[in-house]
Amino acid sequence: MHLSDNPATPARPAVSDWIRRAPKAVLHDHLDGGLRPATIVELAEECGYTALPTEDPAALAVWFREAADSGSLERYLETFAHTCAVMQTREALVRIAAECAEDLAADGVVYAEVRYAPEQHLEAGLTLDEVVEAVNDGFREGERRTGGRITVRALLTGMRHTDRSLEIAELTVAHRDNGVAGFDIAGGEIGNPPTRHLAAFQHLKRENCHFTIHAGEAVGAESIHEAVQVCGTERIGHGVRITDDIAEDGTLGRLAAYVRDNRIALEVCPTSNLQTGAAEDYRSHPIDELRRLGFRITLNTDNRLVSGTTMSEEFQHMADAFGYGPEVFEEFTVAALEAAFLPLPERERLIEELVRPGYAAL
Ligand SMILES: [Zn+2]
Repeated sequence: MHLSDNPATPARPAVSDWIRRAPKAVLHDHLDGGLRPATIVELAEECGYTALPTEDPAALAVWFREAADSGSLERYLETFAHTCAVMQTREALVRIAAECAEDLAADGVVYAEVRYAPEQHLEAGLTLDEVVEAVNDGFREGERRTGGRITVRALLTGMRHTDRSLEIAELTVAHRDNGVAGFDIAGGEIGNPPTRHLAAFQHLKRENCHFTIHAGEAVGAESIHEAVQVCGTERIGHGVRITDDIAEDGTLGRLAAYVRDNRIALEVCPTSNLQTGAAEDYRSHPIDELRRLGFRITLNTDNRLVSGTTMSEEFQHMADAFGYGPEVFEEFTVAALEAAFLPLPERERLIEELVRPGYAAL
């Protein structure tokens, strides 16, 4: 994670009504980056966690956003220390996962893959399996509460700086018929290339299991090359630094051409990219160039609380920056479902029954 010295602090936009109503799909959303501030305060009180910067939910939301915008890596990482601190019991995980599903559904999201690192929720004695079961139960509860308006799947994340990725890959395979759709690797990209976790990816390949890799956020094309060509990732988390392999005149290098031609989806998270310095502002974000060049682009939140965003707000920022209308957001949403780690008939059903009619009605 690289943070810029002078990060942009984009204002939260007023969201147009049609954007709020538009059906959405999110593939890159971190469970521990998207809690409700009021829930953090309540859970902190219940579990005796006293290190929150404030116990006022509204002030806490502002604190998270400012910490992410501060340009300080320590402050940015501190945000996740607070959220993970209150995510250590089964009850807390069920509640947070259920609320996550509710919040996404209320924002018009019809399909979500939400990721988290099970190893970060073991401090109060839960096992890895118990963590996964709790989050899955929470997602099912959230789906029920929304009357089935949203389908949520989990991605299990291995951390780049630890050595548990093979264990988490095995955990992913063990729970794949129970709400876990795939695996991811996350954490500081610099000094932690994805090839350090090759055993995990090879295990997933042997088991015919899906995975994505955070790459091309802080480190450029070489990180994407390792993720795609050495590790064999199906999607790329962020991936915006693929522009390193694209000339000024739009000529694609071999790697960029491979990614585009194989329709490898990029999980693009514009607001997060501004905060980490991967882009300067929305208008200069490479998403529009990449889209025009034919890359498979999906639009995502990354961390809703920490980045102070929602899917609707990401849509709005892109509409404001590039003049995108419903047809572009329909394209992004269909692209996300085409790249989803869900059986083909289920992806087709979501596209034909929810996404196409939803956009036609706008
Ligand atoms: Zn991420």
